[in-house]
Amino acid sequence: MSAYYNNKSIIYQDGRFIHPNEIINDSYSQTLHYGNGIFEGIRSYKTKEGTKIFKAEAHYKRLKYGAKVMNIPFHYSLDNLTDITYTLLEKNNFQDAYIRPIIVTGANMGLGSSQESQLIIQCWEWGKLMGDQLLKVMTSSFQRPNPKSCFVDAKVTGHYINSILARNEASASGYDEAILLDINNNVAECSGANVFIEKGGKLYTPPKGHIMPGITRTTIIELCNEMEIPVEEKHFSIEEMKQADNAFFTGTAAEVIGLKSLDDYTFPMPWETTLGFKLMHLYKQEVLGQRRTNLSKAV
Ligand code: PMP
Repeated sequence: MSAYYNNKSIIYQDGRFIHPNEIINDSYSQTLHYGNGIFEGIRSYKTKEGTKIFKAEAHYKRLKYGAKVMNIPFHYSLDNLTDITYTLLEKNNFQDAYIRPIIVTGANMGLGSSQESQLIIQCWEWGKLMGDQLLKVMTSSFQRPNPKSCFVDAKVTGHYINSILARNEASASGYDEAILLDINNNVAECSGANVFIEKGGKLYTPPKGHIMPGITRTTIIELCNEMEIPVEEKHFSIEEMKQADNAFFTGTAAEVIGLKSLDDYTFPMPWETTLGFKLMHLYKQEVLGQRRTNLSKAV
């Protein structure tokens, strides 16, 4: 059938729990033609206290923010969205799942935002997006979008053309992923995750402004603060990244994943001895609700 559903799968579409084949979509949708849609990527985990969606509120706040800046009507409350998502997981009998809500805009072949929208939520079982192996990454020839050309901090479907171009280029060149620079030639992020570097026992990550402010990135910074791991939000160049001891990516789908090399530079510090490795385990404990001080309510 599909990598994402089978004949028992259930998705949500505006008040209905249906099979993916029963979806009603408009071929005049502005999301299909112009990429004016908003989505999220969320994970749920099997914990000792049952299924827990990690930072549902933060993800749904970002979804609502996207609808607001794109002038798309969207009236679901945060509580309603979370309740629907738990119901959907239950209907699919999922505990460890990836959840993909999307606001799809209505028919409009003009360029003002359609004043109709619908919410679709899909979920499926998905391993770590980038796998478990350390990644070989390249400097992309594509830049992240200029923040004056769009709201880079909103998860708008159309923005992902930039990510797809960078990923395709990386694959075609024999790399796992791409590092994209911002318009000022500072390191921004990869196609679908944020980047941290380690240098002299301290972590650095690009500040907000030219990046998707990842919820995993925030969680990692919170974990660092709690564990007294030095971390600073600071711009750095690709040349500086090539002097780092180590580096890793963070994202809901990728979780925490270490880098092996950047272009022809191999990160010298063994992954198992890095702060990234330590944080990878702390993050796992956090999402599984296994830590004493739980950050999962923080936005
Ligand atoms: N950057 C980009 C471009 C992304 O698409 C994502 C995934 N949403 C991230 C970073 C990581 O964000 P998060 O930690 O909220 O999943």
